[in-house]
Amino acid sequence: MYRDPSSESGGESASHGPSYADSYAAAWDRAFGRLEGEGLLEAMITRVFPGRIALVSSFGAEAAVLLDMVARIDRTVPVLFLDTGKHFDATLTYRDILARRFGFTDLRNLRPDADDLREADPDGSLHRHDPDLCCHLRKVVPLERALAGFDAWITGRKRFQGADRSRLAPIEAVDGRVKVNPLAGWTAQQVEDAFRRRNLPRHPLFDDGYASIGCAPCTRRVLAGGDARSGRWAGLAKTECGIHRAAG
Ligand code: SF4
Repeated sequence: MYRDPSSESGGESASHGPSYADSYAAAWDRAFGRLEGEGLLEAMITRVFPGRIALVSSFGAEAAVLLDMVARIDRTVPVLFLDTGKHFDATLTYRDILARRFGFTDLRNLRPDADDLREADPDGSLHRHDPDLCCHLRKVVPLERALAGFDAWITGRKRFQGADRSRLAPIEAVDGRVKVNPLAGWTAQQVEDAFRRRNLPRHPLFDDGYASIGCAPCTRRVLAGGDARSGRWAGLAKTECGIHRAAG
């Protein structure tokens, strides 16, 4: 059971009602939100949500930093990858390389429901005329199903990525579940330094101008002066796939 940080004894637990995350997220943020990076991860993985937290990774341009941190704490933490069927081959290769290198024992490839795709995206072109529905079927629904067994999940979002992420808190409650964002306050330079310091391999497309990497049809190189995520759904008003719809 998780520990209530608002209790002086720190030992009280609460029942898992549908809104428990909303009730306690602010208290957790007060108790642990001053931590970041590995310190916050260690607290969440080993003290607050042992056995009930997952890491959601895109295996994109910056993913190795967070994967490395989690692996140093606990290699058995489930790693959830949204295997949309639309990724670059390079991303799938990178996923396998990183999973092997860090020794994760529970990598879960979340695939869209075959019946959903047969009905709504029979020729695989849905992303061209309704990207929101495409993301819903290929990302949001599979993730919702996979998270059903967890109380919390870890994301790699950062404030410097801009747009909807500029006021991101280290700990949030969304739809009755806690989201932990240990790199929320990190700068791009800190990410770079972590890659260098830990000798982490880069995504094969990073040096080719892809600063943020999602599905192949919806990812472009970042143009000079553009922010890191400007190559995602370029030319559309869309900035998020929907799995972070309540982000701050
Ligand atoms: S990012 Fe593009 S291809 Fe991937 S699920 Fe969303 S709309 Fe579909």
